[in-house]
Amino acid sequence: SNGTNSRYQYDAGVTDCLFCRIVAGEIPATVVTETDTTLAFRDIDPKAPTHVLVIPKEHHQAVGDLDPALAGQVLATAHQVAKSEGIDSSGYRLVFNTGRDGGQTVFHVHCHVLGGRALTWPPG
Ligand code: ADP
Repeated sequence: SNGTNSRYQYDAGVTDCLFCRIVAGEIPATVVTETDTTLAFRDIDPKAPTHVLVIPKEHHQAVGDLDPALAGQVLATAHQVAKSEGIDSSGYRLVFNTGRDGGQTVFHVHCHVLGGRALTWPPG
């Protein structure tokens, strides 16, 4: 392992992070696109016609843990997904559920890309 985030990095098949296991190819996912540092794949329980998750390949818990460059790479991939899904002009929503009150259930930061229908506001 590479030292940083050693508690979380994929290491000899031992990790309890679901999304690290998807990055490692241990758990299947429908990949939409990827870059050197980010991976986009379809949500297993879609809440809209387009529901894609964009993650940094490196494990970080929450959006506030990302350095600005990596946060920007996640956002750039999210916008690329919106374009490739054909929802860039009609509109879409990017969501980072964060922590307990934010409803985060997977503690590997992910940006939800939601679209393909008129989304309601406010959220629950
Ligand atoms: P919530 O579960 O409340 O949406 P999060 O913001 O943490 O909280 O989102 C986790 C997302 O991960 C959910 O939308 C869930 O459907 C999705 N998910 C869980 N397991 C998988 C998986 N194996 N592949 C793809 N998406 C997954």
